[in-house]
Amino acid sequence: METEVVVIGAGPGGYAAAFMAADLGLKTLIVDKEENPGGVCLYRGCIPSKALLHAAKILTDAEEATEIGIDFGEATIDVEKLADWKTSVIKKLTGGLGQLRKARKVEHVQGTARFIDANTLQTEDGQTITFKHAIIATGSRPIVPGPLALESDRVMTSREALELDGIPETLLVIGGGYIGLELGTVYSALGSSVTVVEMMDTLLPGADKDLVRVLEKRVRQLFEEISLGTRVVKMEEVSDGIKVTLDPEREEVFEKVLISVGRRPNSENLGLENTKVALDDHGFISIDSQCRTAEPHIFAVGDVSGQPMLAHRATHQGRLAAEVIHGSKAEFRPHAIPAVVFTDPELAWTGITEQEAKASGVAHKVTKFPWGASGRSLSLNRSDGLTKIIVDPETRRVLGVGVVGPGAGELIAEATLAIEMAATVEDLGLTIHAHPTLSETVMEAADAFFGTSTHIISK
Ligand code: FAD
Repeated sequence: METEVVVIGAGPGGYAAAFMAADLGLKTLIVDKEENPGGVCLYRGCIPSKALLHAAKILTDAEEATEIGIDFGEATIDVEKLADWKTSVIKKLTGGLGQLRKARKVEHVQGTARFIDANTLQTEDGQTITFKHAIIATGSRPIVPGPLALESDRVMTSREALELDGIPETLLVIGGGYIGLELGTVYSALGSSVTVVEMMDTLLPGADKDLVRVLEKRVRQLFEEISLGTRVVKMEEVSDGIKVTLDPEREEVFEKVLISVGRRPNSENLGLENTKVALDDHGFISIDSQCRTAEPHIFAVGDVSGQPMLAHRATHQGRLAAEVIHGSKAEFRPHAIPAVVFTDPELAWTGITEQEAKASGVAHKVTKFPWGASGRSLSLNRSDGLTKIIVDPETRRVLGVGVVGPGAGELIAEATLAIEMAATVEDLGLTIHAHPTLSETVMEAADAFFGTSTHIISK
């Protein structure tokens, strides 16, 4: 087979790249194991986890409705039906992408591919594909460190946890990052007693502590236990579960264990040694600001090309790589890439965080608005949110925004646009936000910078 552009991997980076290349008139081919595009994000990441988090939210909302005089009684959960519904969401989305692929006349080879030289790929069944340009979008997979590598149905990564093969009575989540907290939230709402252990002294190490504090307070009520500064040193299967040895020393048996300690790039087994494509110390493919590797006609996008390993970064890089192949001089230089943790409350940030500003010595001022003063928040029976803006004290430009509270993931879009458009904190304060909405918290946090927030004393 011969093509102008070959895309290896059909996740949000790969399929976005292939669709853009086809839209620009380039003859394009995708290689991926699945019948339809989707990658980790659609098959075993973003989408199934959010579908299950929706179910978790219904359950906790129904439980908490008793506080305002509504009692639905005890919920009954048909786990099989819930898992089927989640699978139907995946099928609908990936099937739709398959149709979009066909409509764009993007060819598809089902399988995995490796480079045999810098212009030829070979699939496992021996087909060869010669190409002018390649985009590597092979994504990432969960890390399972040596001491945690135990062959047992009771030990899961996010992949197995999302299958929802029963609800264990007790679940140990190893790792307090976003995947562990999201899946811990799901299993806790479905009835598991969830314990989270995290090696660092905080949950979500990349996020600002004042935001994490709000989230931690609530998830501590949902989970059986959260142990920070705690490391799993040994795991062994016993008759009724997995016996886990922790440091500081303690032994406990859990029915199931979820390992969510991070992800590593899929950069091995690609035959990259047959090209000049280079890797960095962490195994990510090294790229320049146009997503080009050391082979100028081979590009890499998404999780395989570095942090942050998020679907929307992958998509933007994929589209950009296709444009560059088409002749554009565009570069990938975002001022802000939003990150969202879809727990309850949600936690989101964009641009620089306060802890990054402090660590890198960037001059900044922080302005905040607590959601206890938001009419919309109280009308949702919630008062636990916080919106903060990190501002350049001289130019008053918005450098970063952090939000914790229900719907934070939606609110962060306005903040990202503000940063990309070089908005000042006045711009946010003077923009009329609809009342009563949670978006007013962004406006009021901006007003608080000048000591003039209507609903709090901020002088
Ligand atoms: P992937 O989606 O990983 O796709 C890579 C594809 O390449 C796969 O289909 C793989 O089979 C294929 N492939 C690999 N090697 C080869 C080969 N040699 N030949 C052919 N094909 C190959 N991100 C968010 O932004 N928001 C979220 O809410 C979110 N939630 C997540 C929840 C979970 C549980 C997990 C695990 C991840 C989540 N992520 C989320 C991260 C997100 O899934 C990834 O950032 C995103 O999928 C990366 O896209 P990608 O295109 O780089 O690769």
